[in-house]
Amino acid sequence: MSVFDYQKDKDGIVTITMDMTGPVNAVNDEFGVAMSETLDKLESEQGLTGVIFASAKKTFFAGGDLKVILATEPGSEVELFESVEEIKSFLRRIEKLPVPVVAAINGAALGGGFELCLACNRRIAWNDLSVEIGLPEVQLGLMPGAGGIVRLTNLLGLQNALPYMLEGKKVRGPKAESAGFVHETVAELDELLPRSKAWILENQNNTQATVQPWDQKGHKIPGGNIMRPSVAQVAVAAPHMLKKNTRGLMPAPERILETAVESVTIGFDAAMKIESRKFAGLATSPQAKNMISTFFFQLNEINAGNSRPEGYEITEVKKVGVVGAGMMGQGIAYVAAKAGIEVVLKDVSLEAAEKGKSYSEKLLDKAVSRGRSTVEKKEKLLSLIHATDKDEDLAGCDLVVEAVFEDMGLKHKITQDCEPRLAEGGVWASNTSSLPITQLAEVSAKPENFIGLHFFSPVDKMPLVEIICGQHTSDETLAKAFDFVIKIKKTPIVVSDKAGFFTGRAFTAQINEAGQMITEGIDPIRIDNLGKAIGMPVGPLTSNDEVSLNLLVKIRNTHLETGLATPEDDKWPAASALRETLVNDFNRGGRYHGDGGYFDYDGNKKVLWPKLKEMYFDETANSSIDNRDIKDRLMFSSVIETLLCLEEGVLRTVADGNVGSVFGVGAPPWTGGYLQFINTYGLQRFVDRCGELADRYGDRFKVPSIVSQKLASGETFQ
Ligand code: NAD
Repeated sequence: MSVFDYQKDKDGIVTITMDMTGPVNAVNDEFGVAMSETLDKLESEQGLTGVIFASAKKTFFAGGDLKVILATEPGSEVELFESVEEIKSFLRRIEKLPVPVVAAINGAALGGGFELCLACNRRIAWNDLSVEIGLPEVQLGLMPGAGGIVRLTNLLGLQNALPYMLEGKKVRGPKAESAGFVHETVAELDELLPRSKAWILENQNNTQATVQPWDQKGHKIPGGNIMRPSVAQVAVAAPHMLKKNTRGLMPAPERILETAVESVTIGFDAAMKIESRKFAGLATSPQAKNMISTFFFQLNEINAGNSRPEGYEITEVKKVGVVGAGMMGQGIAYVAAKAGIEVVLKDVSLEAAEKGKSYSEKLLDKAVSRGRSTVEKKEKLLSLIHATDKDEDLAGCDLVVEAVFEDMGLKHKITQDCEPRLAEGGVWASNTSSLPITQLAEVSAKPENFIGLHFFSPVDKMPLVEIICGQHTSDETLAKAFDFVIKIKKTPIVVSDKAGFFTGRAFTAQINEAGQMITEGIDPIRIDNLGKAIGMPVGPLTSNDEVSLNLLVKIRNTHLETGLATPEDDKWPAASALRETLVNDFNRGGRYHGDGGYFDYDGNKKVLWPKLKEMYFDETANSSIDNRDIKDRLMFSSVIETLLCLEEGVLRTVADGNVGSVFGVGAPPWTGGYLQFINTYGLQRFVDRCGELADRYGDRFKVPSIVSQKLASGETFQ
């Protein structure tokens, strides 16, 4: 039996219900066989009046098989070109059928799934939040290859189509209709097929209904083709704007843009060929491999609970206490309430707690004004947050997240005061960014129920939570904390309790290396710019100014005071000394502290603090180092720190290291994270380059032994 069920009704309408092996319909060998057989049958069908493509799965169609794409090697571009051309030929045959063809979209239609829909004459979707539609390939370093770019550009026009393809934006419900992705929606799922059939019958005598817009005589692309000055202007300006974001490190959006411009410049068929060629080149690129590995396979692995201890039932937090309604606590309260959890938000005064709650109100007002939420939803969410200044109100919480000032004494006191209020078996979590969980848990009556939940700012936007297990944290507590993080729709990584945990170490390594270079006499602006050139969202010095120099000085002092680190452990003593000079002697604690940091700030304007150059700049040192060394020093410092975390067991899995470094540290997405970076850089090449950097700049660049072990066993970081 075919995985494409073929049913012809009394009216001559054939419904193809796709039900491929596995959880989703996808483009693979099985698809090729089924589609080819189905098209042969349709093309020779007598009395055919229309065709409906439907799905027996929860989703409509999932797109390309990423395992297959990941396995392709450079050199296989011709094969890849031929295989996308084959898929394209199937879709072309669908749109050339002499009868109306409908895509009955019952669930997500993404990537190749939407490309199939675009080849149908009519797209009718169920109006439900689960029905996401779009071309998100760019987010995995890929591009649509089965006609998606050419068809969407022809359908919407260059200017309208570009954002959906360059950002991979998905749409659903009424937005899918207003964006022009679908022609109409139905309110109930069981109306989908009847409506599809009705449309076919209504359009029996409408010859236009069977001809795709781009196949109609005199077809005009909305907004015009390249001859229209406004379109030509977009074609000229867009690459520059794009480069500003990608810095030339991400080939996918560049290839998408080029193909879209070709679509309004040359004929449909020629543009289709170019699309296939560019797709084949892109699919074998290291950037695509990096992004597919990390943002698809490893992220799925994490969200599926690979780091969650086995043998514990999934738990659901019903009532969470958040102690400290400051910058972090207010965000934690919001994301918890958004997940439907009752929240007790406690601060020293009712006023401070209410202020924390008003943060949720502000976010919700914004969402309502933008049509992303409703007044009812807002009221419901706010009713879940109970602002208070009383410890008693924490009674019965299954989880308390403490988010008060970063002070061991204060955190100890709060733990002693409030921990007894927890429900039986409840978990106590600290949102500390630097204090050891084991030491924080020393005052706890139940250190086995004590854990670190390290959120990132702003909490409502940042997707990561670093879960830190203290020495006594039980597996059961870890499982409960993990379930909570998943429930609030964040991505959990699990790390061990060592100074800086993982994200702090990987983050500060690069900042410290940048500071070290300043003290060598290198131009700070050059350092910051080269940080951006490797793909960091902002340069390392700007980043340090944002996070605050004060904080890093404070954290280092705490580590020294608590014996967690010794001065000899500091691999960047000159950078630490520079920071202390700035903070202690010049009151330059960062952008929001004191008089600025490495930079002076005037509103959004930023200029280098002139004295920094006066004190450290050395023309000879600056001109004797090349850009490549500066870039590699910045990149390798964080990569090596990540390797050390893996070697020391701070990181437990490669997936956590990769996903954590992109989502929590700001590692450039094109790397697929700091461990995946080594895989595509080449392990031997990495070892050699570390050797060069160590000879030139110091032992901190010596390659961690875990790389040599992998090399010896012929493995990579998986
Ligand atoms: P914050 O200064 O904005 O807020 C702290 C809040 O704690 C204040 O509202 C304060 O009134 C309240 N508080 C103090 N004593 C209290 C008490 N006895 N009972 C109840 N509330 C009390 O600080 P923040 O930036 O939200 O940081 C909180 C924690 O989160 C710190 O441990 C910090 O290291 C950590 N953290 C901060 C960030 C960040 O980017 N800011 C990121 C990750 C983790």
